[in-house]
Amino acid sequence: MRNVVIIGSGCAGNTAALYTARANLKPLVISGHEAGGQLSLTTLVENFPGFPEGINGPDLVENIRKQAEHFGAEYMHGAVIDTDLSKRPFRLNVEGEWMEARTVIIAAGASARWLGLESEQKLIGHGVSSCATCDGFFYREKEIMVVGGGDSAMEEANFLTRFGKRVTLVHRKDTFRASKIMLDRAKANPKIEFLMNTAVEEVFDVTKGEVTGARLRNLVTGDIFDRPVDGFFVAIGHIPNTHIFKGQLDLDPDGYLLSHGGARTNILGVFHAGDVQDRVYRQAITAAGAGCMAAIEVERLLEAEGH
Ligand code: NAP
Repeated sequence: MRNVVIIGSGCAGNTAALYTARANLKPLVISGHEAGGQLSLTTLVENFPGFPEGINGPDLVENIRKQAEHFGAEYMHGAVIDTDLSKRPFRLNVEGEWMEARTVIIAAGASARWLGLESEQKLIGHGVSSCATCDGFFYREKEIMVVGGGDSAMEEANFLTRFGKRVTLVHRKDTFRASKIMLDRAKANPKIEFLMNTAVEEVFDVTKGEVTGARLRNLVTGDIFDRPVDGFFVAIGHIPNTHIFKGQLDLDPDGYLLSHGGARTNILGVFHAGDVQDRVYRQAITAAGAGCMAAIEVERLLEAEGH
């Protein structure tokens, strides 16, 4: 029986591990399919406080893991494929093996939705990004492309005009999911050019290991054309990793965990941390903070229960 099992090993999960380990709770972290979370997909992180020169995303998340292990946190490869949260102790199935836990911290994250092109996947971290806040700074006076037609795409496109020479927003329709205010703001921005009814066919240049352009297709005329770009940002939504909790935990219509205050879910003893619940901030530092909050809640609950 574990005091606390942490699902996810990104910034939120590893920070929760650090805090619960220092509280002598011997946490077990289930790393998940994307060990290290979204930070492991980025390159230089310049906005995590404490690193004046910046730090590589994978190094940052690995450092927090080492820090947690130093205090006794254990890590297990694999993913949680099923859960029974109907009563305590909770039961978790990790790749076919059931285990029991007094408390659970869900820090399973949200995965960026990608277009799914092979070239896009190969260039993630080398010019292809899903996070303007993280990577926009690298594209000063450069050509930037943003894909998507929702609020995220508008927000990212607007934000990226602070850096780029021009931002081309590519959207597959001529209508937008974005709210009027966000869309109006983007349309009023002289540095943003809209390419509607347009799909991305390919991102160049995998052989060079950097983004040099994109091949686009006009979905109305069928015309195929290339555009030189330096930074390629995909902003077509995120998918919270909560499918295994459906029917057990309160989720919003998009699948994000609903908070019941602090780090609490609707089930006593099950806590949330990071992007699995946060659809607004989604930063490494806010995820780390949320991991800390969840850990403190676990500590207090177990203490109150005499464990
Ligand atoms: P979203 O509203 O779901 O929009 C996703 C966009 O990506 C849609 O335009 C969609 O196109 C497009 N898309 C999806 N899959 C695609 C694919 N395979 N290829 C090309 N395009 C694709 O997602 P979001 O913009 O991330 O917003 C999510 C939620 O967060 C929303 O509720 C939003 O209001 C909120 N949000 C709010 C703010 C803010 O208020 N500051 C900022 C960001 C996000 P179609 O329309 O053709 O389906």
